Amino acid sequence: MNRLIFFGPPGAGKGTQAKIISDLLKIPHLSTGEILRSKIQEKDGLALELRKIMTSGKLISDEILNSIVSSRLKNFSDTGFILDGYPRTIMQYEFLNNFLENLSIKLNFIFNIEIDYDILKQRIIKRSSEEGREDDKIDILKTRHSEYTVNTRKVSELYRQSYSNIFYQIDGSLKIEEITKKIIEILKKS
Ligand code: AMP
Repeated sequence: MNRLIFFGPPGAGKGTQAKIISDLLKIPHLSTGEILRSKIQEKDGLALELRKIMTSGKLISDEILNSIVSSRLKNFSDTGFILDGYPRTIMQYEFLNNFLENLSIKLNFIFNIEIDYDILKQRIIKRSSEEGREDDKIDILKTRHSEYTVNTRKVSELYRQSYSNIFYQIDGSLKIEEITKKIIEILKKS
């Protein structure tokens, strides 16, 4: 059973890799960013609030995220899953640990894609012109990146310490295919 988490700053390519690996292993890909972007399309009060926060580059509340993830993960306990973009805060980390423990579910792989801020900036500029994502602007990237360094890096560090046997560091400056190759090698070896 494959249960994976992908970490990395915005633009590191975690979403791209998560998608590729989800197709390859035929397991569901749970991207909290994508789920939130599709919620925004509903255009109700909550959607407007979410849009405001996301386009500022800030994080959405733990309460909303924990509820989104737990309602979906319940269905994936037998299939395996890839978490992309969650957990991003210590509260989310603790919630997920409790949730998985209660279901006797163990994680198998944690991939942490690291990359320099300068390379990220170039990538985000490119992605912004290709995908037209509202939060792919340089000033917003700064906020998103600082949310990552202030909150999410602490979470990946906790996994690095507490789950060292399943924690894998990946160089995000490599080409997409090279990163995929490295991930597949790790998945095959273990
Ligand atoms: P992403 O597509 O993963 O870069 O996420 C896009 C945006 O969605 C983030 O900048 C946050 O505003 C929001 N978001 C996604 N996942 C989370 C999360 N786990 N906790 C809080 N906010 C999140």
